[in-house]
Amino acid sequence: MRDTQDFDFDVLIVGGGPVGMLLASELRIARVDTVVLERLPERTPHSKAFGLHARSLESLDRRGLAERFRDGARSWSNGHFAGLDVWVDFSLLDSAHNYALLSEQTRTERLLEERAQEFGCEIRRGHEVTAVRQDDNGAEVDVTGPDGAYTLRGRYVVGTDGGRSLVRKSAGIGFPGTGGRVTARLADVVLADRENAPMGMERTQRGLLFCVPLDETYHRVATFDFEHGKEAGSELTLEEFTDSLRTIWGDDLGASRPRWLSWFTDSACQAERYREGRVFLAGDAAHTHFPVGGQGVNLGLQDAFNLGWKLAADIHGWAAEGLLDTYDQERQEPARKVLANTRAQIALMNPDPYVTQLRELFQDLMAKDQVNRHIAEMLSGVRVRYDLAGPEHRLLGDFARDLRLKTDEGDETLPEFLHRGTFVLLDLAGIPEVSAVHDEWAAGQEWAGRVRHVVAACEDEPGLAGVLVRPDGYIAWAADTSAPAAEIADGLRTALATWAGTSGR
Ligand SMILES: Cc1cc2nc3c(=O)[nH]c(=O)nc-3n(C[C@H](O)[C@H](O)[C@H](O)COP(=O)(O)OP(=O)(O)OC[C@H]3O[C@@H](n4cnc5c(N)ncnc54)[C@H](O)[C@@H]3O)c2cc1C
Repeated sequence: MRDTQDFDFDVLIVGGGPVGMLLASELRIARVDTVVLERLPERTPHSKAFGLHARSLESLDRRGLAERFRDGARSWSNGHFAGLDVWVDFSLLDSAHNYALLSEQTRTERLLEERAQEFGCEIRRGHEVTAVRQDDNGAEVDVTGPDGAYTLRGRYVVGTDGGRSLVRKSAGIGFPGTGGRVTARLADVVLADRENAPMGMERTQRGLLFCVPLDETYHRVATFDFEHGKEAGSELTLEEFTDSLRTIWGDDLGASRPRWLSWFTDSACQAERYREGRVFLAGDAAHTHFPVGGQGVNLGLQDAFNLGWKLAADIHGWAAEGLLDTYDQERQEPARKVLANTRAQIALMNPDPYVTQLRELFQDLMAKDQVNRHIAEMLSGVRVRYDLAGPEHRLLGDFARDLRLKTDEGDETLPEFLHRGTFVLLDLAGIPEVSAVHDEWAAGQEWAGRVRHVVAACEDEPGLAGVLVRPDGYIAWAADTSAPAAEIADGLRTALATWAGTSGR
């Protein structure tokens, strides 16, 4: 290890999948010197994920990116839960984005990579990290690139290097979990009779079939087999895939010309902790699960939105004690819940005839709006709220909605104020203490621009005196006009110190 404070970059991101690329732009927007090290020379043409859910879209909207993702992409209001016949209805969501967006993972990755590049992030493709070490002051990675091996030193390393994460293993972080009982065999193939191909998810007496058209020529077809596993490390062949189709579906659908063959299991694991000293984990490096409900990318993107500004706060020297640890505290629970709901879906998908009765019961329940909304909120990530310390308020820890604001500049919405990745202090009732506490806080800062003070009227939330929204869109403080002025002032003063820090460069 170099024993100097001489860093090549502030943050070294290992892995340039969707999560690494988003984290890179979140760090760059906060002026953090960042490099992404990605072993693939080019982006893979094969999309694992297909869609983005409401919370991802809400968050992207808070960076001015939602339109970029929506442009030319189809959206749909329904999804499936465990392949039940009653669809999950995303239109029931109380969200400006009450739908799922069809954005293949290759497209999502491209858009996020372009964004990171626009912010001047250095992206090194074809550079594989082979070792990670850390000391009290920083962390180093050994890299093998097209021109040979070299070492980089940063203040922090973030492993966004997927489920088999080298960073996680190097940091000695355990990855306990369950699964390995269901084997999914997946192929992007041409089907002999496109017109009469099955559509969506079909449960049979032997397992499940998933079949959707990808384009004019190809279908994505997958079998979920509860009996016949595969040896770790073995490749899936077309022959094995068509055998599996015959076993599960009774017919191989005339599948041919595979352009992608892949397999995976229902293994669901979560890192014991997301931080070890100067090393952090995000995305699949921190949690993996069966891809039912299309939640993995979405979960990982939320890790990146949560971690980016906190790392930046630390690097710029204004993070309050313990801020970096709130990443693990806040992000473990959402992943635990996603793993739980995917396990529940697998249990419901089991071909065992007894499960059929359970499915029927579940379907009856899903026909009720309240249940359907609950599931839609769960899959789309909008149920996530953080358990934040602070004066009790119904909005504390919640994701700030798209409030419509009237300011001196005209009609605006809250997401627009978050585009630059700063905090936003909404001053909604002109209570002098709110301005006074903000000004007192700002006077002690070397860079007070990290909190945007917005004086506005908001008909959506009558009775609200003010709200402090974190850069990731979650509410760190809120107070009603009915509260005593001294209480409002104390609460805001503490929240600013806790979340937005007290000094810094
Ligand atoms: C069949 C399938 C369908 C899915 N469908 C959905 C869906 O519809 N919706 C959804 O939200 N999720 C879905 N998922 C899950 C989703 O694909 C993952 O959650 C997502 O890819 C995780 O992103 P990531 O950036 O964390 O990791 P990855 O996408 O795995 O990216 C990790 C990157 O790190 C690189 N890397 C690894 N090791 C190193 C190293 N040592 N040095 C340098 N680079 C390295 C890899 O090359 C890779 O580019 C699906 C998954 C599967 C398998």
